[in-house]
Amino acid sequence: MRIAILSDVHSNMEALEAVLRHAGRGGALDGMWCTGDMVGYGAEPGAVIGRLRELEAVCVAGNHDLVACGKLGVEEFNPSAGKAALWQGEQLDEDERGWLASLPLVRIEGEFTLVHGSLRAPEWEYLVDDEAADAQFERQTTRYSCVGHSHLAFDVTEVDGWPEFTDRGDDETVALGDGKLIVNPGSVGQPRDGDPRAGYILYDQAAATLTWHRVEYDIKSAQAKIIGAGLDTWLAERLAVGK
Ligand code: ZN
Repeated sequence: MRIAILSDVHSNMEALEAVLRHAGRGGALDGMWCTGDMVGYGAEPGAVIGRLRELEAVCVAGNHDLVACGKLGVEEFNPSAGKAALWQGEQLDEDERGWLASLPLVRIEGEFTLVHGSLRAPEWEYLVDDEAADAQFERQTTRYSCVGHSHLAFDVTEVDGWPEFTDRGDDETVALGDGKLIVNPGSVGQPRDGDPRAGYILYDQAAATLTWHRVEYDIKSAQAKIIGAGLDTWLAERLAVGK
């Protein structure tokens, strides 16, 4: 079984299609998981939702998804992100908003728990430090968990009872073992680790490995759509620098 693990697609169709092409090179995918923020920031929320639904992706809701479907307000967003988040909802039809609203915050798939931020605060927490990782390990009932939200690609293991973060770049593979593990595939549609290429994880169930990948995509086209939609130009500019 080959499963693509995606997060933070953020309405970026170019990046999503590039990831799907890349993930499909080794044969058909048996599944796809998406740890939230399918929409937000980018120009094509409806197209991204349509594609993920067509692929029967297993998804959890992120903060941007909850704003777009009206389940969350924009009080905790910065002004430009808030404006873009509301714009996203306006582009969607009733059916698409209903699909977002139906998504759970947490779901368990085999040995993995999927959640956008963290199990302590699914919509909001950036799991990027030892304290947050400890809290996740405490709440995690499966051996492994997958998060998103920070748009950073990494894993966390427990070494002598302490969490240890390791950044993961292109083509890095980790073998799944007996110990607890937290992984973040990075962001498909808006990477923030200085590498503008779309990030995702390929999970090979038979081999029990996870491989992080980075995939080039047509950034200029995604930028042109953001500008064309009248969204904040910074949302287009940041795609080129991966910040
Ligand atoms: Zn996000």
